Amino acid sequence: MTAPAPSSRPPTAGHPVVSVVVPMYNEEAVLPLFVERLRPVLDDLGAGYEVVVVDDGSTDTTPVVLQRVLREWPNVRVVRLRANAGHQAAISAGLQRALGDWVVTIDADLQDPPETIARMYAAATAEHVDVVYGVRTDRTTDSAFKRHTAGAFYRMMRRLAKLDISQDAGDFRMMSRSTVDAINALPEHNRVLRLVVPTLGFPSTTVDYKRDPRAAGESKYPLRKMISLTLDSVTGFSQAPLRFATWFSLLGFVVAALVLVYVVWSKLAGGTTSGWASTVVILAVFSALQLLCLGILGEYVGRTYAALQQRPSYYIAYDSDHTGPLHGETD
Ligand code: UDP
Ligand code: MG
Repeated sequence: MTAPAPSSRPPTAGHPVVSVVVPMYNEEAVLPLFVERLRPVLDDLGAGYEVVVVDDGSTDTTPVVLQRVLREWPNVRVVRLRANAGHQAAISAGLQRALGDWVVTIDADLQDPPETIARMYAAATAEHVDVVYGVRTDRTTDSAFKRHTAGAFYRMMRRLAKLDISQDAGDFRMMSRSTVDAINALPEHNRVLRLVVPTLGFPSTTVDYKRDPRAAGESKYPLRKMISLTLDSVTGFSQAPLRFATWFSLLGFVVAALVLVYVVWSKLAGGTTSGWASTVVILAVFSALQLLCLGILGEYVGRTYAALQQRPSYYIAYDSDHTGPLHGETD
């Protein structure tokens, strides 16, 4: 379970129709540009709105810039996580706090054009759907590595988890209040929202957009975080790897039986059966396979352990809705 959402709100803010949730990690370079582009879009939306910025434990000047944004833009709320909890946990923290009838999640780096929010809102209200997925029509601005790894990821998840997910839908989407409530009620940790949302089964539509290059700064998704997202996705949605372990053991049994037959046969035929090279190769291969199977098992055990502990996946260091210290800290 994630940390409980605070209920207090500034009394003057009113009830927002649209909430924009923005996870941010070390985005000092892009933050002013982002605010400059987002604000006119929301001011022209024709609906009350709020922007919920989740500072995912930034170590640059993002918190300082955010304080300035807070002073200059009354619709903004800021929550700061005590440590870098990761993109998905940051979005979850924002979803727990968003109050709007419609909630859109958007990256801070302007790869998701803010202007698309207006089209999403129009589609959501006109088509009576609960989810509007932003679908990337053109990913040429992403690196070839990113495109290939992303393609492989979605293919694998479609096959492993039988999920009907588009490879071009990321985390830029608008969701109704019921959808957000359903997500917030999920008890699991490490949820990969782009996979969770389609499984909830709410009626949906799509809005196309062109994915722009990152406006400033660098990607906050190093290989380590991509691998961690992939592991969370696989273990969260499929037990197929556990079955692979079983198949590997069967394969090992067959190979061992064949080797045994060969050894006996060559002994009977008067040949030689000694040789350290073959012994080393067989030992190495099977030790590696055993470790792989143990690792797979470990991933699931770790996930079960985390689920049992029920610890929050993030801690709040600062919340602009609260004036006093939070959890004994003001950050
Ligand atoms: N992000 C975050 N926590 C992290 C990593 C990223 O909140 O640990 C935010 C980041 O600030 C951005 C969004 O998630 O708003 C997407 O990250 P990024 O653009 O770096 O990912 P990429 O587009 O390279 O996949
Ligand atoms: Mg990006």
